[in-house]
Order: sequence, then C-alpha cells, then structure tokens
Amino acid sequence: MDKKITLISGASRGIGRAIGTRLAHENHFVVLLARNAEEISELEFEIDQAGGKALSFAVDISQPEQVQATVDQVLQDFGRIDTLINNAGVGVFKNSELITTEEWDQVMDVNVKGSFLLTKAVLPAMKSAGSGHIVGIASDVSKRTFAEGSLYCASKYAQHAYFEAVRREVRKLGIKVSVIYPGLVDTYFHEGDPGQPHRASYLQPRDIADAVAYILNAPAHVIIDELMLHPMSQEW
Ligand code: NAP
Repeated sequence: MDKKITLISGASRGIGRAIGTRLAHENHFVVLLARNAEEISELEFEIDQAGGKALSFAVDISQPEQVQATVDQVLQDFGRIDTLINNAGVGVFKNSELITTEEWDQVMDVNVKGSFLLTKAVLPAMKSAGSGHIVGIASDVSKRTFAEGSLYCASKYAQHAYFEAVRREVRKLGIKVSVIYPGLVDTYFHEGDPGQPHRASYLQPRDIADAVAYILNAPAHVIIDELMLHPMSQEW
C-alpha cells in the first residue's frame, strides 16, 4: 500500500467531508469517522466510485472504547496510521448562565476530549514508525472570544493549547502537529443549510481542505505549525 493511511474525524459533513474527498484524490487511503453510519458509508461509496480508496467507521469520538477499537482495527488492517485529521466539532452558543452542564460536557467531550482520545490512540504507532502528521481543525476563536461563545471558545482555546503542547513533545520524534484556525465556513455548523445567500462570502469547506493538503504536502523538513484563514468579508 503506497497510499498514506489517513484518519479524518467528522467526515460525514462540512469541512471533514471536503477534506476526505480532497485527500482521496491525492495519495491517501481515507478512513472516515463520524457517528452517522449512513452518511459516511455514502461518502465511502462516492470516493470508491471516483477511483479513490476509503473506509468508514461509525464512531463517537467522545467514547474512549469506540475510539481505541477503531484505531486498533485500522492498525490491524493496514499496519500503520500516517495522518490524523482531528476535525469533528460541535458548538453551543448562548449566554453563559443559560449553558447547561450537559451542554458543557457535550462540547468539551467532542472538541477537546475527542481530539485527545484520537491523538492518544494513534501516537504509539506513529512513535514506533518515527513519523506521522496530526492536524487539528481548531478555529479563529482559539485566539479570540465573542459574547455567547464562552463554551465554544473555551473548547477551542483548549484544543489550541493541547495541540501546541503535543507538538513540543513529538516533534523530536519525527511527528508533525499542525493546526488550522478557520474563520467562518459555510457548513451545517451554522443554523440552516449551507448555500444561503447571506453566507455566500464565507469560506467554503474546500478552502479548508486545500489548506490541509498544503500542510500535508510540505516537504519533510518543513512543518507548518499554524495556518489561519478567513473570508475577505470577515473582520478579525
Ligand atoms: P459540521 O458541518 O456540523 O460537521 C461536524 C462533523 O463532526 C460532522 O461530520 C459530525 O458527524 C461530526 N461529529 C460531531 N460530533 C461527533 C462525535 N461525537 N463523534 C464523531 N463525529 C462527530 O461542522 P463543520 O463546520 O464542518 O466543523 C468541522 C470543524 O471545524 C469543527 O471542529 C468546528 O469547530 C470547526 N470550525 C468550523 C467553522 C465554521 O464556521 N463552520 C469555523 C471554524 C472552525 P456526526 O454528526 O455524524 O457524528
């Protein structure tokens, strides 16, 4: 297998789906992860039909056993994992006193714990191989805040800190950690369907997929630590 084995979380919709589609057209066997089995099977089928290689696993990345079992299965099938794209994420936006403890746990469990669980599960194999690339899809609100964004911003700041610290641990072992900080992207993350006129100027999911491909295609001696991108229409 000369293709890179690449795990992508949150591959059923939006940014993760675009990353899966894009990397499958390059030299990647994409392993698609999301809870919605039907949506990721459909994407697996589409990629196969287009001549690419894909495999899908229905997994909730906040659940340690499910994450470990998925990574173990991929390692059993392929013997290695070259790339992990930590993309899955959720948001709750409201005044802080209205946030329930369930909502707090849900956002932190997916955005922060999910990134931690996947990273923890792939690192031993990457360390043995002496190579690997972990990419986090964080947010521009990993570095700024906004009203009614306390929970989401806290989760994205935490993701940023987590990936930065992991980068310091693993760089000397030949493993790269890169983080992308997008501004507004037109996906189901926002209320209503993508494609609405008032969101026409937002970034498109393929813009983030292009950024991921750029990061992954950097020469071996280069690490792109961070990449922030915004639509021209968004002030930052
Ligand atoms: P999206 O369209 O809502 O897609 C979110 C993806 O995450 C879906 O595939 C969803 O699949 C998956 N997911 C959610 N909970 C999960 C769980 N517990 N386990 C596994 N998968 C789970 O959102 P998006 O805009 O593409 O967001 C992708 C990432 O970009 C997120 O981390 C988000 O914070 C970040 N981001 C988005 C924007 C934006 O403006 N859209 C801006 C900056 C950063 P299932 O529901 O099938 O599990």
